[in-house]
Amino acid sequence: MHLPRLLSTAVVVALATSAFAAETKETAPPVVTPAPTFSHAAGAPADAIVLFDGKDLSAWKAENGGEPKWKIVDGTMQMSGGGLMTKEEFGDIQLHLEWAAPAEVKGDGQSRGNSGVYFQGRYEIQVLDSYQNPTYFNGQASAFYGHSAPLVNASRKPGEWQTYDIVFHAPKPTPDGKVQPGSFTVLHNGVLVQDHIPIPGAATTSAVFTGVAPRGPLFLQDHGSPVRYRNVWLRKLEPKPTK
Ligand code: MG
Repeated sequence: MHLPRLLSTAVVVALATSAFAAETKETAPPVVTPAPTFSHAAGAPADAIVLFDGKDLSAWKAENGGEPKWKIVDGTMQMSGGGLMTKEEFGDIQLHLEWAAPAEVKGDGQSRGNSGVYFQGRYEIQVLDSYQNPTYFNGQASAFYGHSAPLVNASRKPGEWQTYDIVFHAPKPTPDGKVQPGSFTVLHNGVLVQDHIPIPGAATTSAVFTGVAPRGPLFLQDHGSPVRYRNVWLRKLEPKPTK
């Protein structure tokens, strides 16, 4: 009696594992066409910290310190000469930003309109032209890079402005030396794409910093493609108590 029960348990586990794999790694997130606008030009609430309002880069520094090399073009900031990092460091935040991949399509997969928003310089929500541009699912636009594909692909066309509205809770060290996972909740063009996804604590590939920390800068990646950003603001959130 014991052997058949063991076998059936193994079969059930195998089936469940394969179904999980199919949902997470082998099925493309379905395309959902977003509305033409959602939070485009969203005004900053009274308690927000405005990081870019179209005028200057005074809240930012270059990836290796010093003056940022990004260009301000028509009220937007355009990637140039390395990553861009906030001078101030943050823990848990609500972030709004808008971005546009280049209108002129060059390359494919990860080499088309690649940038990224790194929270605390560690955990990346991918920026990529994912409009009719297949790549691995946990590396497409609005993926928690390397960890979690978006629920759906809500990308707009290259050159069009797209919005991210993101709630980030940072992973935190616990008194017993472990890590309390953080979380990402992400709206892409008004569509829920990351639904309270855990952030285990290990930094994303190509992160500027590693290790769990109470605060870190917001970092915008230069991945060699002239991605533009505008209207960047955030609100600090009260940290969740560690368990
Ligand atoms: Mg990237």
